[in-house]
Parts: sequence; structure tokens; C-alpha cells
Amino acid sequence: MEHYFGAHTIDNGGIHMAVRRAGNANMRALQLFTAIPKYYGDKVSIRPERVTRFRDALAATKIAPERVVVHAAYVLNVATPDAEKWTRARDGLAKELERSTALGVGAVCFHPGAATDDDREAAAERIAAAIVHALDGARGSTRLLVENTAGAGRTMARTAEEVGSILAHVPKALRARTGYGLDTCHLFASGYDLRASKAEVKRTLDAFEEATGEAPGFFHLNDSEGALGSNKDRHMLIGDGAIGAEAFGWLLADPRTRGVPLILETPQLNTDIGDDDDAPDPYDVQMMELLERL
Ligand SMILES: [Zn+2]
Ligand SMILES: [Zn+2]
Repeated sequence: MEHYFGAHTIDNGGIHMAVRRAGNANMRALQLFTAIPKYYGDKVSIRPERVTRFRDALAATKIAPERVVVHAAYVLNVATPDAEKWTRARDGLAKELERSTALGVGAVCFHPGAATDDDREAAAERIAAAIVHALDGARGSTRLLVENTAGAGRTMARTAEEVGSILAHVPKALRARTGYGLDTCHLFASGYDLRASKAEVKRTLDAFEEATGEAPGFFHLNDSEGALGSNKDRHMLIGDGAIGAEAFGWLLADPRTRGVPLILETPQLNTDIGDDDDAPDPYDVQMMELLERL
């Protein structure tokens, strides 16, 4: 199996333009938002014309639909003990999966939110309940994947054990449609020392595999502005941060990085690119070339 590199490309002009920019950077994987990520989007459906434009654009690239990841809105805190907020976040997550299923993509990834009352076990159960609700509402093959977090404040999913405990609350019959993915910046910020050695990188992936019973469904390839264990979620270009390029080479040598989307969420240069300009971002191109060399 191969390495499928891609990025969360700029979507000025619509998601089909994000697809075209990815294709023009020779990407084999892609991540996007299907709604404005700072809103709940719990009432936002996707129009059929938008689905058609997206699928037509994707067919002109080397990106298979199963290697497209939709990133859910950041505001969806399905860990919250506040019943009203939880219901809205749960509905927002279900809508994310509904829109992504309509697009026919491989997965939705989401940040599981924060246990604001410090009861982390109850929070894990609430996250799982939101996953189950979303999976029950959208019949399809699009998976719903928990993303590990940098661990700031009371955020959940900062360790392998915590990702494992969230997924353990999902009934067996639904388990194949859920799972998790790993962000390298978040791993490092939450205390996994990826830059220590190749063996430590392998141990980190082993820990997540043991705690969850499966390999990651995607990776986010980001260097980290913050130091080891800083809980700081600030991405940098690979090689420019505290992790360093060598560690990414060690990660890519692990067979678990093959066959799944490997997504850059690193800084971009032309964030105000014109709506009808499908040129790839120069930083994305630079990162793609670096990854191919590692
Ligand atoms: Zn994320
Ligand atoms: Zn991040």
C-alpha cells in the first residue's frame, strides 16, 4: 500500500475549488469543511448541485473519495455536561455525517470536546452517545473518527487510553463505522515525544492500537510550535517546528501510515486566493515535495 498525501486545501470559491487546488498539487488525499467551522451547522444540509460539483471535480484528480476527510466544526462539544449544549452539538455532529455521507467521502473527523465538570468518564460516555446518534441517523459507509487533541484545558482524547475509552462505549455492531485518527502536533503537545527516536514513534502508535484495537484511520501531519507536553495547538510547517522533519520520516516508515489519508494542516501562503483561481498553495506544494522525499 502507498502513502496518500494531501492537505486541508483552501476552499475559496467552494469545496470543488479545494478539490481542484489539491489535484493541481498532485495530492492523493484531501480534507475539507462542509460548513463554516465556527458554527454548529446543526440545520445545514448540503445541496445536490454542490455534491455534483464536488464529485465532478474529484473525478478529475487522483484522489479517491474514500481518501477525503471532512473536518467537523470546532465548536461541537459533545463532551459537555450541559444538556442543551450537548443536544445541539450532537445534532451538529449528526449533520456533519449526513453531509459527508451525501458527498460520499471516507470519513468525518471531529474534536471530541471538553469535560468542563472534570468527570472524564461521563464525558467519554456522552461522546460515544453522540457518535452512536450520528451513525444511527446516516446509513452509509462514511466513518466518524475521533481526533486526538493537544490536551489544552479539560479537552478529551489527549491520550491513547482516553480515545480507547470513548470508542469502548460504542456498541460492537457500530464499531466498524467509527475509529480515530492522530494529529502529530497534538500528540507532541500532549506529551508523546515523537522526536525522541524511531522506536518512540512506533511505541506511540502501538499504545493507540492497543487501547483501541485498531490502527488510525487518518493522520494529520503537522509540526508543532509548542514544546513537548505544552498542550499548545499551533501548527507549523514540517521541519520548522519542535518535532522536526526527521521524526516525520520515522512516522512514514511505519506501515500504519500506508493506505490511509495523510493530511497536512500546515500554514498556507495565499489564504485570500481568488474564488476562481485553482492554483495550489505554494506552501502546500513545498510540503508535498518534502513528504515525498522523507
Ligand atoms: Zn482537527
Ligand atoms: Zn491542531
